[in-house]
Amino acid sequence: MRFYLPNVNVKHAELTGEAHTHAAYSLRIRVGDFVTVFDGTGTEYACKVKDIKKDRTELEILSETKNSGETKINLSLYLSVIKQDRFELAVQKVTELGVNNIIPVYSAHTQRGGSLNYERLNRIAISAAEQCGRSRLPNIERCIQFDELTARVKNTHMIFPWEREMHGSIREAIDKSKTDVSVFVGPEGGITENEKNILVDAGAKSVTLGARILRAETAAISAVSVICYEMGEWTL
Ligand code: SAH
Repeated sequence: MRFYLPNVNVKHAELTGEAHTHAAYSLRIRVGDFVTVFDGTGTEYACKVKDIKKDRTELEILSETKNSGETKINLSLYLSVIKQDRFELAVQKVTELGVNNIIPVYSAHTQRGGSLNYERLNRIAISAAEQCGRSRLPNIERCIQFDELTARVKNTHMIFPWEREMHGSIREAIDKSKTDVSVFVGPEGGITENEKNILVDAGAKSVTLGARILRAETAAISAVSVICYEMGEWTL
């Protein structure tokens, strides 16, 4: 059983609110049970349940580990703003896959008027991190404009799947010596030729994800998976 618990202090931790109700009433944990808590910034604690009170579950911290369940690379997903439920699916899956930063992007063909519910996105990231065993939460940034995305290309190794790309594959494009890797996935309306040129001129690598057009969230999950594989993250 894993719980996200920000602000853990040295020897003592306690679950309150929803985490306590979930642990005590749904999962029916007992005094003496072992649980894991993580602070979302890379530290994970093995704990023993010391006491279960009406409003809190008290834990004794037994040991502490750093960065368990984390990738060696710093992986960012720039995902165009798409419908909330599809964006949520992408957040859940890429959190499991180990993405560190998720940045929503407005590009030329992004549907206007769409706005994201960040509170829900963060809750989804927390439960995905609890479930999959990672110790950091992805940082979900506020939405940026395409210009800002272009400005960021020079600070990262950016791969971007372009639906009209015929040749480049992720395997050919990936530079295994890099530690900061990003992927940009376009909106349902696609990426314009002009946007593609701007990104390539800025140093991003355009790649294909095969002969079928994938939905943006499928493209994001697939590209992140392949990048993890190619960067050696799937070999323990
Ligand atoms: N409306 C566009 C498709 C957009 S798909 C069209 O009909 O052509 C949404 C995003 O997913 C794309 O911008 C791209 O980043 C990615 N994508 C989907 N399928 C892809 C493929 N086969 N190769 C590369 N990128 C793809």
